[in-house]
Amino acid sequence: MPSYDEEVSGFSWDAARALLDWFPDGKLNIAYEAIDRHLQKGDGDRIALRWLSKNGSRKDFTYRDLSLQSNRFANLLRSLGIEKGDRVYSLLGRVPELYIAALGSLKAGCVFCPMFSAFGPEPIRSRMEIGGANVLITTKRLYKRKVSALRKDLPELKEILIIDDDGSDEGLRDFAALMAAETEDFKTEAMAPEETALLHFTSGTTGKPKGAMHVHEAVVAHHITGRLALDLRSDDIYWCTADPGWITGTSYGIIAPFTNGVTMVIDEAEFDANRWYQILAEEKITVWYTAPTAIRMLMKAGSELAKSHDLSHLRFMASVGEPLNPEAVIWSADTFGIPFHDNWWQTETGGIMIANYASMGVKPGSMGKPLPGISAAIVEKSDNGVREITKPLAIGELALKTGWPSMMRGYLHEEERYQKCFANGWYLSGDLAMRDSDGYFWFVGRNDDVIKSAGHLIGPFEVESALMEHEAAAEVAVIGIADETAGEIVKAFVALKLGHKPTEDLRLDLVGHARKRLGPAVAPKDIAFRENLPKTRSGKIMRRLLKARELGLPEGDISTLESDEQ
Ligand code: ATP
Ligand code: MG
Repeated sequence: MPSYDEEVSGFSWDAARALLDWFPDGKLNIAYEAIDRHLQKGDGDRIALRWLSKNGSRKDFTYRDLSLQSNRFANLLRSLGIEKGDRVYSLLGRVPELYIAALGSLKAGCVFCPMFSAFGPEPIRSRMEIGGANVLITTKRLYKRKVSALRKDLPELKEILIIDDDGSDEGLRDFAALMAAETEDFKTEAMAPEETALLHFTSGTTGKPKGAMHVHEAVVAHHITGRLALDLRSDDIYWCTADPGWITGTSYGIIAPFTNGVTMVIDEAEFDANRWYQILAEEKITVWYTAPTAIRMLMKAGSELAKSHDLSHLRFMASVGEPLNPEAVIWSADTFGIPFHDNWWQTETGGIMIANYASMGVKPGSMGKPLPGISAAIVEKSDNGVREITKPLAIGELALKTGWPSMMRGYLHEEERYQKCFANGWYLSGDLAMRDSDGYFWFVGRNDDVIKSAGHLIGPFEVESALMEHEAAAEVAVIGIADETAGEIVKAFVALKLGHKPTEDLRLDLVGHARKRLGPAVAPKDIAFRENLPKTRSGKIMRRLLKARELGLPEGDISTLESDEQ
């Protein structure tokens, strides 16, 4: 494998473009690059998707199966009068129909928008309204519970396809019957690189979710970053645990794995430590992409459980979505024999921007280095926009030079907000970070979450990571609380591992540990125990909600908040 420096110096986006097949006249289609081109290369019989159902059954789909089924779906859309540019939404669990609908919609030149099936009616309504959904594919149960009452509010919604019922009683369409009536030949739409392919909503961690629009040429970045940052090769058996309702589950849970020709495993069920280890072992997963929240839950379940399974096929493990505490990296190296490789990106960036590469030494707690073709910097506000800060370990906003293919092309119906993300040729991420003298980037916290206390700028991640070192801590979130003398004081919320009780002694022990590690100026003044911390459905801790609750303020948009209600 070439070194990081070799990859960077030899890289150009044109060379990355040339790795894909393209159509004549500079046109392309994500679905063709993901699926059909493998048939042209004689790889149609390779397994593309292995679906593990909740109840323990499994089903394989070859690249040819997915090609033919997505052709049928594209034909089905045409038969219903759905045209290029129309919007197709899904509200499905991780079932094969979701993957077929995504690929078929792209082939038909439609904009695809996957919604997380656990959303309640309001987030579903607002997403369909904002995007002007024309078609929805869902199940009978989800339709009845969450969509049927909204139909009158969604005049553009023409067709609803039901995957598990004939739906005739409510004017719905029977997906299976319609699919069976279609042919397997479809001429995939040749799309201009800048034509819209996907609509993805952000996680809503800091406020109301934004609808980021992505284009067909994004596939160039998905493909190359899948190869470079996740080390995907065609003989891999790959598992991305993210749901396609979040961008990770599409960019790296549909597109990148398929363009790279891997066998991808998807699991319909929700997190369960034992089940996950079984999947890793039985499916002989080689590359695994997951998130810090899941890793922390695995840590909570203990190393012994991991060690009771044969995980020897795993060769690369990566993490995204939240800062990955150094403790988690060290734990993984001890437990699996290989560390998790953290990487950083956003719904807006469409693909991985900063990563710990397979060929690079991992610095636990760091997000790694920018991908080839990406220039990242730490910037601060200046008179005429922003300027770069080059001093090592200075804290500032993480910014990226614009111009990579998977960058969003806008927030839907929010032009002003979109424009605010740019200054002097930089895209401003809204995250604070620092760069060390070796060029590694370190996450400090989101702009909104950083704490200013007695003249110090305190990143919640640093404080959380220090507390996570304590044997009793399973999850930690840190916020700033206004204080007359200090400006803000640091308060931590801690969820405990099994077997630990929230006693005063333990609280003092945690405070003592934090003081020893961080010094009294940075250590939390106050620690509160919580059974669970509030999280988005994509697994991100919602610090703003902890703060609002603490201060008795309005909770704001909580449409993506995870709850037990389904
Ligand atoms: P919203 O923008 O609606 O508030 P969100 O920012 O959580 O939600 P996403 O686009 O899903 O929505 O998440 C991107 C954010 O997740 C990043 O801006 C960053 O704050 C965080 N993040 C992702 N990966 C990492 C990582 N490796 N380390 C630290 N933070 C990360
Ligand atoms: Mg964001």
